[in-house]
Amino acid sequence: MNSFERLVSGIEDGGLHSLKIETIQANLGLRCNQQCVHCHLEASPERREMMEWSTMRQVLEVAAKACCQLVDLTGGAPEINPHFRRFVAALHEKGHPVQVRTNLTVLLEPGMEEMPEFFRDHQIQLVASLPCYLEENVCAQRGEQVYEKSIAAIRRLNEMGYGTEEGLSLNLVYNPGGPFLSPPQLALEGDYRRELNGRFGITFTRLLTITNMPIGRFRSELGRKNLEQDYLDLLQKSFNPQTVGELMCRHQLSVGWDGTLYDCDFNLALGLPVNHGAPDHVRSFRPEDLRKRRIVTGEHCFGCTAGSGSSCGGALV
Ligand code: SF4
Ligand code: SF4
Repeated sequence: MNSFERLVSGIEDGGLHSLKIETIQANLGLRCNQQCVHCHLEASPERREMMEWSTMRQVLEVAAKACCQLVDLTGGAPEINPHFRRFVAALHEKGHPVQVRTNLTVLLEPGMEEMPEFFRDHQIQLVASLPCYLEENVCAQRGEQVYEKSIAAIRRLNEMGYGTEEGLSLNLVYNPGGPFLSPPQLALEGDYRRELNGRFGITFTRLLTITNMPIGRFRSELGRKNLEQDYLDLLQKSFNPQTVGELMCRHQLSVGWDGTLYDCDFNLALGLPVNHGAPDHVRSFRPEDLRKRRIVTGEHCFGCTAGSGSSCGGALV
């Protein structure tokens, strides 16, 4: 039993279990136009892993069987997948609310000129990475010119009604620029609003703060700086029992680019499929076997329970 499991078993009898499948998160591939230093998936322009159409068809069936309330598309940069538009259109036609996690800069790539209109026409909710309102911090984490391009993309989305009209949500994502926890989400949201509106006249719906998980490229970076153990200790000593009931793995299921099922995107990055007897591929998906599954955990899970907690939907408490 790992140290997270031991701690949680004192709160949850029989270990951590999911409660329902409200959200299906599908990872459409690991290819990305960026190569950020904090990327838990180690995505980059060189990666070739990509979800095939045949797997997307299975995800469509899974979404229907699970009666989920949201299909959340992520990557890499999900828009790069050649079947992206067809998949989104099929989900929309079946009546599934769809959310896309966009890195913003991909919207300025050749061939993406009409993507904001496509998003709006399919009533897509957007979650967009902008890890700081300051250029220096964004470029240090995500690369040269990323800030400038991200602001241009947000401007364009604002023009389409994103972040201003009801039903067209544009949530921005902050993550810390180093081995520390996020500041309080609501206070930081106020800072983002003031700074982004004051400097560029741009707006957004909500700010989500997400902790850097001690995995992938971020963990390698910590190792290079000899800060790995300090960060793991910080996460562990910041354990907040109130976050346990809200953990995203309790109401979400992740599908990898090859159809493998995971409790979350972080377990996906670590190659830890669902286990404890539950089916681990979309082809054998049965909601009754997965709704109340026992969750696969590890020391990285302390990243979700530290301080105010963290999830793909931001702080937990
Ligand atoms: S963090 Fe997001 S934008 Fe950056 S490389 Fe990873 S998937 Fe791409
Ligand atoms: S890392 Fe995944 S499995 Fe672990 S607590 Fe967070 S969401 Fe749950």
